[in-house]
Amino acid sequence: MVLVLRSARILDTGRGSGDATQTVDILVDGMKIARIADHIDPPEDASVFDASRYLITPGFVNAHGHFAMTLLRGLADEVSLEVWLKQYMFPREALMNGDDVYYGSLLALAEGMMSGTTTFADMYFSEDDVARAVGEAGVRANLSTGTASLDNEHGKLQKSEEFVVRWNNKADGRIKASFGPHAPYTASPEFVQENFERARELGVIVQFHLHETRKEIEDFTAVHGTSPITYYAEQGFFDNPPRLLAAHCVHMTARDTEILREAGASIVLNIQSNLKLGSGIPDYRLLLGSGVNLCIGTDGAASNDNVDMLEELRVLGLVMKGSTQDAADISNTSLLAMGWSNGAKALGFEDVGTVSEGAAADLVLWDLDDESFCPQNNVASHLLWSANSRAVDSVMVAGSWVMENGQLLGIDLDKVRFEVARRARRLASG
Ligand SMILES: [Zn+2]
Repeated sequence: MVLVLRSARILDTGRGSGDATQTVDILVDGMKIARIADHIDPPEDASVFDASRYLITPGFVNAHGHFAMTLLRGLADEVSLEVWLKQYMFPREALMNGDDVYYGSLLALAEGMMSGTTTFADMYFSEDDVARAVGEAGVRANLSTGTASLDNEHGKLQKSEEFVVRWNNKADGRIKASFGPHAPYTASPEFVQENFERARELGVIVQFHLHETRKEIEDFTAVHGTSPITYYAEQGFFDNPPRLLAAHCVHMTARDTEILREAGASIVLNIQSNLKLGSGIPDYRLLLGSGVNLCIGTDGAASNDNVDMLEELRVLGLVMKGSTQDAADISNTSLLAMGWSNGAKALGFEDVGTVSEGAAADLVLWDLDDESFCPQNNVASHLLWSANSRAVDSVMVAGSWVMENGQLLGIDLDKVRFEVARRARRLASG
């Protein structure tokens, strides 16, 4: 497709403040943004789209989640992570089949797309069914097989590896695959090490829950004498590391963050999940000053409880400002970068997360006529602090529309709602 998006508003993040906008024409050629200019004469084969009522931004990058947990939404609201996982999640996940995972994933992807997300991360099981959902939805994703039990680790590692080989860089590069040792309390150090080694060999990232609760660190320290991150570093897991995507990192010391910085890791912040499960609030001064690439994820919908990145950015920004008692601790530009380019970098999609020439044409059209954008005193501010998913009009991924005028093109939402409700009833009664 060759398309000129005429007279669109984009955020002028190049000026530093991120608060200014420019009105431009954007030429989309194939899967890329070919040109951005004040005026573009459309090439002969191009169609022209009047974008004058839209703010056009990159799609959000949801850097940590478990799509199919939409099926388990609302099953346990007043319990800690340990009880939530062991008493409510694991027993029901054991009952899930591939189609459950497929429909649950489609629902999460639909929610994400309708709230402005174009790139996702997932860690779950039956991951081929997740890849099937991602392919049909038309979005971009980095998928990993989560290994959440200490039994039969060898077979699980082999399955993870086979998945990576089968799916990495597939669907025109929209799908990347990675390894996903679940967490220090569900995977042995030897298994974690093997995951790192295979990821290094295959040139893919490792998705890993780390330092989510104080209990995780205390239990691990009782056995190994130190925190998971420090222990893994001392064992050499982080020497010449593959790219590590460390989810949560709620409880961190200066040494822990320094280890992750030296390892070139990214930290995915999951504020709503951490708040809801009572896991704690990170020391944001420490994280913001650490030099580690910080990005944002919703986590699964059973602990969030939705897949809305704009809401996630807003809550994160509010808690950062509130917990540090300094409204200047995080700028609008920095917060948006965490939701866009930082996440893309963490997931290995280097040309995603910006509206710039040569970047992937992954775009969200926000309706500036929505009252949340009125009076346009500061459009970036309105996007972050006032707007919601209601203002998302259309979404493009890799130069193709995946949502137009509020309608998803690759997902039959009525059917997905029906199937998820039917399957969730079966799982809830299990
Ligand atoms: Zn998670």
